[in-house]
Amino acid sequence: MNDPVLRLSGITKTYNSGQPNEVAVLRGASLSVGRGEVVGLVAPSGAGKSTLLHIAGLLDTADAGEVAIAGETPGGKSDRRRTILRRQEIGFVYQFHHLLPEFTALENIALPQLANGIPKADAEARALQLLASVGIESRAQHRPAALSGGEQQRVAFCRAMANTPRLLLADEPTGNLDPDTSDTVFGALMALVRDTGLSALIATHNLELAARMDRRVRMEAGKLTPI
Ligand code: ADP
Repeated sequence: MNDPVLRLSGITKTYNSGQPNEVAVLRGASLSVGRGEVVGLVAPSGAGKSTLLHIAGLLDTADAGEVAIAGETPGGKSDRRRTILRRQEIGFVYQFHHLLPEFTALENIALPQLANGIPKADAEARALQLLASVGIESRAQHRPAALSGGEQQRVAFCRAMANTPRLLLADEPTGNLDPDTSDTVFGALMALVRDTGLSALIATHNLELAARMDRRVRMEAGKLTPI
């Protein structure tokens, strides 16, 4: 059987360990996300979703347990190898777009590709194609401040997909939008994920959005259980 694209096994994480303000956020969280699978991570605010996504995305390390990305376990590897794995295999989307304000939509999507050594003309062509796939190629030359909230998030989705990752990690990707816009923009994200065939772990507290994913897990008391 193929390795899952993401495998988390017995992940634990405690902040401020041994101090009076110690918080044991993750207490043995385990999850596998298969190829092309979209999994919803449902939990109230403060439950530890961002902590889990940061560990899955190799932005933070667990106290114990193992993370595997497409069968590779970066645990004991150098920071450089972890960075390469993160850049090539993982795309991130946050609640806020975090686009670079001085660059256009097109440039924001081209930049991570240039960092991976893709020639400029190819990077821009791919950026334009991604913008077209979420219906906003006409906004290519706009800077983030000249885009609506929904458009900014669409650009952020395109940027996350720019380097054709295998795994998308999203932290409340439409949490900052009004309900109607959220619904449409989430549809654009799902279409992009399905088109590219990548796997996704998407945190949300919106059960209607979670219902549109393949499978859902709930985070409770630092563990993940199927819903
Ligand atoms: P969620 O994304 O579900 O809202 P988080 O993962 O951001 O949850 O946080 C889970 C818990 O861990 C919260 O109680 C938060 O205050 C705490 N926490 C998060 N990051 C840190 C940190 N760097 N230091 C101390 N506590 C933290």
